[in-house]
Amino acid sequence: MKRLLAVLAFALFAVSSPVSAAPKQADVIIRHVTLVDVEAAKAAPEQAVVLHGGDIVAVGPDAAIARTWRAKQRVDGKGKFLIPGLWDMHVHFGGGPDLIDENKALLPLYVANGITTIRDASGDLPDQVLGWRSEIAGGRLFGPRLLTSGAKIEGIAPLWKGTIEVGSEADVDAALVRLRDRDKVDFVKITDSTLKPELFLYALGKAKALGLRTSGHIPMALTVQQAVDAGISSIEHLDYAYNAGAKDEAAIAADFAAGRIDRAEANRRLDAGFDRATAMAAYRRFAAKGVFVTPTLNGSRIIAYLDRDDHSKDAGLAYIGPKLRKTYEWRVERAAKADAAAIAARHKQIEDVGTILPMLAEAGVPIIAGTDAGFLNSFNYPGFGLHDELALFVDKGLTPAQALASATRAGPAWFGWLDRYGAIKPGMAADLVLLTRNPLDDIAATRAIDTVIMRGTVHDRAGLDTMLADTKARVAAWDAAAKP
Ligand SMILES: [Zn+2]
Repeated sequence: MKRLLAVLAFALFAVSSPVSAAPKQADVIIRHVTLVDVEAAKAAPEQAVVLHGGDIVAVGPDAAIARTWRAKQRVDGKGKFLIPGLWDMHVHFGGGPDLIDENKALLPLYVANGITTIRDASGDLPDQVLGWRSEIAGGRLFGPRLLTSGAKIEGIAPLWKGTIEVGSEADVDAALVRLRDRDKVDFVKITDSTLKPELFLYALGKAKALGLRTSGHIPMALTVQQAVDAGISSIEHLDYAYNAGAKDEAAIAADFAAGRIDRAEANRRLDAGFDRATAMAAYRRFAAKGVFVTPTLNGSRIIAYLDRDDHSKDAGLAYIGPKLRKTYEWRVERAAKADAAAIAARHKQIEDVGTILPMLAEAGVPIIAGTDAGFLNSFNYPGFGLHDELALFVDKGLTPAQALASATRAGPAWFGWLDRYGAIKPGMAADLVLLTRNPLDDIAATRAIDTVIMRGTVHDRAGLDTMLADTKARVAAWDAAAKP
């Protein structure tokens, strides 16, 4: 009988143990929150999320999670919406060695805006940026996870600084091996100010063979399709994708390559030749080849309307150091020189180009959110600009869910990391943003940030405000020091 009781007691214990066992210990628990499933475009209320170190370890209905988990820190998610951390997949750092501190001061602006990962698409400070990447990863520098192309590949004596200049296939080979083995870059950026078109295509193919992803500006002497066929992984700036919709793109590229027409005439003919059926066929080929597009609409919009919009009172200016603000003048001066016809053409161009955004989505081309924020790119404010970019995506015809996916899932998808980023489930990185409104209803809700969690560390609204205030104070001190 005693033995039977013992067995019964054991059996009862075994049955009840999942409930009565000591709760599991973790670092952070977010209670009573509405989870936003970006992929399914659905929101699930009354959930809890458990974080341990830099990982999400449990997700489920609040009551069940609360029974099984204890955590050192509790975040109240009642009435709030949890999304994966945002990614800005096109930013720049640069402006020369004098501007290193001012560039570094931009990093907290991203975090304060819910951005937990940025992709640097190259500037003229590649070695500093590579250094920051490891300092951030090692916890020695505060900032979002930084992914970078390192120095971009260019032709000989290009417009841009901080490049690796290549004039032959052997140069391209050496550049790619250096980027892969010495700099361990996250991807390769190729621009075309002086790069020979045939070397551009060669570099795309060679990079692919070496296992490197590529992005870049496509030379006017080539068709976009040639770059796609050669293996380009992402097309930066929507105008290149727009050009692929011109019926006679190949003839225009050939005329430009032979010197029969200049860039302005080529652009005019590309715009005039745009044809919906041609464009949709091209975009289906992008999708089939796995090519992503980063529109950078916000940057293009700001430049196109510099004649009309007064930026002198922008709130964002207070976060930008004086030397970086000075780099803004380049675009402003260039825009001021344009005549009425050029301005009208620029306005028409930006509106025309925007119409292809829903076409790309319809064709199944993944759209990546990236701002082009950084030096030179006037009034496109690091961190804040991503929310402007997402608003533009919705203006141009994407759903809020598609826009949200462009800033949470497209980046990880491009790098092949969707098993770690872009969703809220166990095994994912603890990079999260808590919003006070539902972004699936209104994309502007991505600006309504209550809390940012990055690599498992909780930054509440007060902490985020301190980041912003600190940056403002640094800029004010630089401004004061710069006054004679
Ligand atoms: Zn750029």
